[in-house]
Amino acid sequence: MEITESDISDEYHALVRDVYGDTVREVNSHYPSKRSIRLDWKEIERFDDDLAQRFIHSPKRTRGTVESTLECWDEIDMPEVAVRLHNIPDEYHFRVGKQRTIHLGGLITIEGEVVEMDGVKPFAREAALECRLCGTLTRVPQTYGKMMEPAECMGCERSGTQYIFQRSQSDLIDYRKVILQRSDTNLDDDPPILVVYLTQDLVDRVGPGDYVSLVGYYDTAMIQKESVLETYLDTWDIESHEDGVLADRLSPEELSAAILEEVEEHQDDDPSSFGADREQIIETITGEGVRRKEVESQLEDLIDDREVNDVGGGKLMVP
Ligand SMILES: [Zn+2]
Repeated sequence: MEITESDISDEYHALVRDVYGDTVREVNSHYPSKRSIRLDWKEIERFDDDLAQRFIHSPKRTRGTVESTLECWDEIDMPEVAVRLHNIPDEYHFRVGKQRTIHLGGLITIEGEVVEMDGVKPFAREAALECRLCGTLTRVPQTYGKMMEPAECMGCERSGTQYIFQRSQSDLIDYRKVILQRSDTNLDDDPPILVVYLTQDLVDRVGPGDYVSLVGYYDTAMIQKESVLETYLDTWDIESHEDGVLADRLSPEELSAAILEEVEEHQDDDPSSFGADREQIIETITGEGVRRKEVESQLEDLIDDREVNDVGGGKLMVP
């Protein structure tokens, strides 16, 4: 059933068009290179406390309604836009492993270190499955993990038939699995970890070794093998997010070249002292959308290889 403008209550229209109108128009004018609308929970709370509480108590439904509200605004056209939410109340903020059963099915912010990352893969948010016997196509919404098939074909009404996956008619998005581990812990031998899923434009926003704060929906996997449950975080936003910063934006060679060029350009700036300011070099390159961690570690490598000299006082020189 298609949702129309009048099905949605006024506060959603006001949130999207008045409170976030400028943001939405800005993203729309850069779509699809920009495709996230980032909502600040505390700002929503200032606008309408009741609506803010709905984001906490029934997050999926509330987010879905905001997405529908965007869809029926005829001034904009962003079919694949993602609604993101950050800055949720501190009481829902945990280090990895401190979240509890009571938080399942709700939004939480989880803090930890990225210790493992899989490659980016396509995830079928909705899979189009064709019955091998009669050719009927059924669309089945999916969760992460095992492919869910219809219990019975809607065409031939047989159960236990085989299905063929039809990619072109499925709804696919980018997906990446990440393992987050508690940092700064006394539990040295076995620090708690949490499986985290990143989707769409978030897949490139973090890298190994990053300390991140992720807002997401805490859930149990659909298929469980044991009574002690497998859980995960479906990331809705990256709290420690810097706009436009991507992991691996430059190759190590390109990054080295950028650092060397920057040091050479600035090492003679100040006639009263030698060298280019280290912090300023790092700032300049991170300002171009490279992760700080990558810049720092590449710079360390250059110093180790004596391609850049650390001349003391936070100054660098190319010999
Ligand atoms: Zn069939």
